[in-house]
Amino acid sequence: MLIGAHVSPAGGLAKAVERGVERGCRAIQIFNQSPRMWRPTAYGEGDFAAFRAAMADSPVEAVVIHAVYLLNCGSEDPDIRAKSLTSLTHSLRIGAAIGAAGVVLHPGSALRGDPGAAIERAGAVFGEALAESESCPLHLENTAGTGGTLGRSFEELAGLIEAGGGDGRLGLCLDSCHLLASGYDIRTAAGLEETLERCDDVVGLERLGSLHLNDSQTPLGSNRDRHANLGDGELGEEGCMAFLSEPRFEGLPVVMETPGPDKRGTSAGEVAYAFSLRERGLAARGI
Ligand SMILES: [Zn+2]
Ligand SMILES: [Zn+2]
Repeated sequence: MLIGAHVSPAGGLAKAVERGVERGCRAIQIFNQSPRMWRPTAYGEGDFAAFRAAMADSPVEAVVIHAVYLLNCGSEDPDIRAKSLTSLTHSLRIGAAIGAAGVVLHPGSALRGDPGAAIERAGAVFGEALAESESCPLHLENTAGTGGTLGRSFEELAGLIEAGGGDGRLGLCLDSCHLLASGYDIRTAAGLEETLERCDDVVGLERLGSLHLNDSQTPLGSNRDRHANLGDGELGEEGCMAFLSEPRFEGLPVVMETPGPDKRGTSAGEVAYAFSLRERGLAARGI
């Protein structure tokens, strides 16, 4: 299990690796451009080479890219869909250039109207973005189910993958906070196991490519997306221990996106705490 954190690439892509090392990460997640602007950051071959060299010299084994929040591949507005396609394709190309494990994407939202139609629209954009890029997987992230967000259930995620053509590059990123908020009770090892069996039946766990570990400020089924620091929320230590010791997650990047002790993002202390929770979780399972 490659435990790590979301870090900033400010000052250059390779700086993100440095920030990951400072925090004791074995995996990092970055935005490939400013998260609230459509304009892409112009990275070149030199940036990619510096990034790959920094990774090779570090204990960080995996990087995932988080696509920016502006994207709505399921939008009714053709202009937003076109911009989303361009941006997603760009993220996938950067993912290929830096050897990312995947691009994590919030699948989209249906502001009004039929979610089925929005799922079809989003799927068409995923299919095009995959066709216009090579090799980097696309990980659809499950959502907390706020408003019309798509991907609140395994059934919706399976529908999105099918609408995207079912390509082998279409994968899943499961976020612990979003699972709990959308009604999956993963507060215990048994609850997590049951949830993953459901995921396996509906989507197939072979599609699981990355994970987000965040505690949740809001309760089971609240449909609100409010991350808490590990152990400080509704998942609690027990839920985090179960997540971090789940055998089906072995080998995958597990990225934290927590507020952090000083609200400046996941700290080195929290990454170390996650490693200790994993050890306690393994001991509780008798592993
Ligand atoms: Zn997440
Ligand atoms: Zn979230």
